Amino acid sequence: MSIESEQLLSLVKKYNVPGPRYTSYPTAVQFTDQFDKGVLDAYHTNRTQEKREKSLYIHIPFCFSLCWFCGCTKVITKNQDRGDVYLGYLEKEMELINKTIHSGSVIKQIHFGGGTPTFLSPKQLRRLGMIIYDQFQIHKDVEFSVEIDPRRVEEEHIIALKEIGCNRASLGVQDTNEAVQKAIHRIQPFEQTQKVCSLLRKHGIKNINIDLIYGLHRQTFELFKKTVEDVLELDPDRFAIYSYAHLPSIMPAQRLLNEADMPSTGEKLSMLVHAIQFLPDYGYQYIGMDHFAKEDDELSLALKNGSLQRNFQGYSTHAELEMIGLGMSGISQGDTLYTQNEKDLDAYYEMLDDGRLPIKKVLPLSSKDLLRRELIMQVMCKRELDYGQFFEGDKQRFKEHFSDELFRLKELESDGFIQLTETGFMITDLGKLFLRNIAMVFDEYLKQKLHQTAYSKTV
Ligand code: SF4
Repeated sequence: MSIESEQLLSLVKKYNVPGPRYTSYPTAVQFTDQFDKGVLDAYHTNRTQEKREKSLYIHIPFCFSLCWFCGCTKVITKNQDRGDVYLGYLEKEMELINKTIHSGSVIKQIHFGGGTPTFLSPKQLRRLGMIIYDQFQIHKDVEFSVEIDPRRVEEEHIIALKEIGCNRASLGVQDTNEAVQKAIHRIQPFEQTQKVCSLLRKHGIKNINIDLIYGLHRQTFELFKKTVEDVLELDPDRFAIYSYAHLPSIMPAQRLLNEADMPSTGEKLSMLVHAIQFLPDYGYQYIGMDHFAKEDDELSLALKNGSLQRNFQGYSTHAELEMIGLGMSGISQGDTLYTQNEKDLDAYYEMLDDGRLPIKKVLPLSSKDLLRRELIMQVMCKRELDYGQFFEGDKQRFKEHFSDELFRLKELESDGFIQLTETGFMITDLGKLFLRNIAMVFDEYLKQKLHQTAYSKTV
């Protein structure tokens, strides 16, 4: 990809507006606590009758210390006994969820996210594994991943994770430079990360993803470049390189950061462009937005064969699975409904004490939502749109239905983001940097200005 930097900068200025990351459509901003309980009950009743493979996301909210850039739902504590209490409630929640799924449903994907899953001690991790295997039927080839904070993991944790079936790990690195680490309040010597990588491989957890962030405080283009070089030494299978989202009004911890230390938008974008241009030389393919994977990795294969999907963890394989989110703030994604658990830990416990699923918000999807969800996911995951895949192949109807949107696309076409084809449009290399902006054209909710303030900027 060759993009003149001046051309790119002017496009960034034009398109750098708040917008969703489209890990779902409609996005979580639209979930509401004013929902019809009858709709939720009916959804669960139907689910008990449908044998369907599933993906479990389990949220472990605890962290030992606060990273100032962080936008995750977490609870800062050093008291590991809180992990035992939490596991007791997770078990209750799984028992309740179990009553809402068909007894023949098999779990094909498990993900521990956080917070910090390795906040749990090895003993607690083993207990969590036992609870899961007691409650659900787990597929023998389950894809089982865990987010790891290299600062908080010992060999015993890794042994416990391997014992309970974990086969993928995602390591939070963010940036390897000490000055940046100080600025964001996350000191993590690179040797620590290297050691954890070796231990994971030693114990047979061979699929490794590294999370980096670009646009962090005190980060410069040169420092980011060095971080990428450092991390390449670890030979990960995947990279997730996220754009730092500065939203101090929503994430109060970010007020601790010095805004004067933030790189400019142009510098920030040059970091992403560098990753996109540099990583293919090392055998990594750009999957989209913030993900890169080795050519033979399942994500790359999913991109090629059209089975790539986007969910609350970013890009993922196994689009066919229903996703069930467990734990405080966990989000479930069904074919026709999203739900989100209580984000407040005490309220989450209280609902389970009452014998109720701790669901706080729900969004049933209308037929309009479903249509636009499919369309936006094609933009995000397939990088092209074939109008013939909608309205039973009636392209004319598609053009009439989306006439406003197609009119607005003309500007993106003239800016070089898309190219019209016989069947619809394809996204160009330049357009891959602006996937969110292309998807936003089809987002009906963005017309409501109120919702825009909840999103980070697209670059
Ligand atoms: S970045 Fe990770 S470890 Fe740091 S506060 Fe956020 S969830 Fe916790």
